[in-house]
Amino acid sequence: MPSHSADRWRDLRAQLPDGARLLAVSKGHPAAAIREIATLGQRAFGESRLQEAQLKQAELNDLSLQWHFIGRLQSNKVRAVVRAFSVIHSLDSWSLTERTARIASEEGRSPEVFLQVKLRPDPNKGGWSSDALLEAWPQLCSLPALRIRGLMTMAPQGLTSQERRMLFEECSALADRLELPERSMGMSGDWHEAVASGSTWLRLGSALFGPRQPVKDG
Ligand SMILES: *Cc1c(COP(=O)(O)O)cnc(C)c1O
Repeated sequence: MPSHSADRWRDLRAQLPDGARLLAVSKGHPAAAIREIATLGQRAFGESRLQEAQLKQAELNDLSLQWHFIGRLQSNKVRAVVRAFSVIHSLDSWSLTERTARIASEEGRSPEVFLQVKLRPDPNKGGWSSDALLEAWPQLCSLPALRIRGLMTMAPQGLTSQERRMLFEECSALADRLELPERSMGMSGDWHEAVASGSTWLRLGSALFGPRQPVKDG
């Protein structure tokens, strides 16, 4: 009997248009849940807490998975994150981006990265404003080691569907202006709007795995 997440994975995949990829956000779910959908062909998994991710990576090291870091990145965790993840979605400031570039270069790694933008006021999140991003862009392009692939954004709580759609369109337009191919937009509650606005990476947790265990930051 296939589990719910196997069914949901097939359903979601069938609904995604070409060019929109599924990042399976596995935070708060055990290694066994990852293994199950990896068996179906899912390769990209997103985690937001370093320690939790490292434990699962150790358990799953017989599989060839692509690990994406999507959580808030503390500066003292950059080295470990650069070692454990090949894609980072959450570079939300100049100092963090510059530090990640320097450490990646020391480590001989060249992660794919997304710059996290904040296009609406949101006290709970970090992110580049579009002005700050445009101003820093020439310097960002000259940083070593990082392969800047796109922009990531999250909609604040309480927006209408129409407002979320406008926000995602704005993020897409900014990525276009910078000639960045990827947009990491859309979570379980708003991925339809994100797809309609040109998302290339949907970060889906509960829509795929069901409700997650609360987990501590770390
Ligand atoms: C947890 C998380 C997700 C997935 O959230 P769901 O609502 O469960 O799909 C996506 N993006 C980020 C940055 C997250 O922290």
